[in-house]
Amino acid sequence: MLDCIIIGGGPAGLNAALVMGRAGRETILFDEDQPRNRVTQESHGFITQDGVKPSEFKKRGRADVLKYPSVSIKEERVENIERADELFTVLTKSGAEYVTKKVILATGLQDVLPNIEGLPLVYGTSVFSCPFCDGWEMRDQALAVIAENERAFHMGKLLSNWSSDVIVFTNGHQVLSETEKEVLNRQHVTVVEKKIEQLHSKEGQLQSIRLETGEEIKRTAGIVMTDLLQSAPFAKQLGCEMTLNGGVKIDSLGRTTVKGIYACGDTSLSAPSQLVIAAGEGSKAAAGVIADLVEEAFVLTES
Ligand SMILES: Cc1cc2nc3c(=O)[nH]c(=O)nc-3n(C[C@H](O)[C@H](O)[C@H](O)COP(=O)(O)OP(=O)(O)OC[C@H]3O[C@@H](n4cnc5c(N)ncnc54)[C@H](O)[C@@H]3O)c2cc1C
Repeated sequence: MLDCIIIGGGPAGLNAALVMGRAGRETILFDEDQPRNRVTQESHGFITQDGVKPSEFKKRGRADVLKYPSVSIKEERVENIERADELFTVLTKSGAEYVTKKVILATGLQDVLPNIEGLPLVYGTSVFSCPFCDGWEMRDQALAVIAENERAFHMGKLLSNWSSDVIVFTNGHQVLSETEKEVLNRQHVTVVEKKIEQLHSKEGQLQSIRLETGEEIKRTAGIVMTDLLQSAPFAKQLGCEMTLNGGVKIDSLGRTTVKGIYACGDTSLSAPSQLVIAAGEGSKAAAGVIADLVEEAFVLTES
């Protein structure tokens, strides 16, 4: 019987696996290898890893984990998790079943882009989802914020940290109050509420944004506010409580509201989406699993 199954091999799952391995706990990590940042060439903001390719990051992470003999990694999709008493049966795409005491959900999120022609061509090359991750690379350029919801206000303000030339495009949506528009304008952040016809780009580099009115506005990079969906349905299926913004509710050691199920990284939506934070949460979830396994063993010994 396994101590733990980790689902998802991004920074959250890998760091959880590392901590499980260093505790000598029998663990399998399953990873379908579809990380959220797979569209990018470089990731930033993780000390010692700044500028690393996402594929290289994963390679290094797996090598660290595989130094520990109690952990194995299987590149396979998990299809289902069933609960029976205190244990869980995990079913994979190949039809194999594994019984485990604990499960860590590190399955992450998927971004849904607004439906704008030309946007997929620039996403991950010159248009990104987070200025803390990619703002430095777009500093001082003519920047766009593409946001169809009320987060347009927040991102318009935030992106002005990296450039004094920021235009917020709401793509035909009236999501900003008159006061918010005035506050942005006062700091020279312009708001364009007209519908976008198309983004023009060359080899992934944004060049301009064409509006349905025929106006063409030069922009060379930017941020798009995406809709975020859970990559896997397991937390809801198992009855874990979710937060208002769609994350899995966890305590400070990654415990969900269902005993034996832990969550970490983007899945919990509890922190800014960043590799270093996901890795930290993975570490905490594994510490939670180990602490609980130890406590459960001591209770059994006493009775
Ligand atoms: C365009 C873009 C650029 C970014 N750039 C940066 C950056 O420069 N710096 C930074 O710090 N952050 C960056 N981020 C954020 C970063 O990608 C996330 O915060 C981070 O990947 C979260 O890690 P995670 O382990 O929670 O999830 P992920 O890295 O998304 O990993 C989840 C893994 O779980 C797997 N999985 C899901 N369901 C299953 C299943 N059923 N069975 C098996 N495996 C499954 C997925 O395939 C995936 O491999 C960026 C995000 C985007 C969208």
